[in-house]
Amino acid sequence: MYVIDATTPTGNEFVEPMKQSNESVITLLQFLGKEVDEMPDIIKFNKGDLVRSDEGDGYYFTTQNGCSCPDSVYRHRTCKHMNRAGFRSVHTWKL
Ligand SMILES: [Zn+2]
Repeated sequence: MYVIDATTPTGNEFVEPMKQSNESVITLLQFLGKEVDEMPDIIKFNKGDLVRSDEGDGYYFTTQNGCSCPDSVYRHRTCKHMNRAGFRSVHTWKL
């Protein structure tokens, strides 16, 4: 089970990179009753977005406080997924 730690020093909610597989995202969308014709680039949820990786092999979970991709978790910066999801303007790191 993955636990989000909102108190990490970086302000990033994610303590280690995590990519959701396409299969698990399809399962999630079907569970939510969504038709899955093709994989969307961004899937919006209340607490954040699932943003498709450049490779197209999975999704990163992205919020205004961080992203589950290695670039955000290890480099502590606003990543391309956060930019794509539109979180750039409201994001501030606590370094
Ligand atoms: Zn990212």
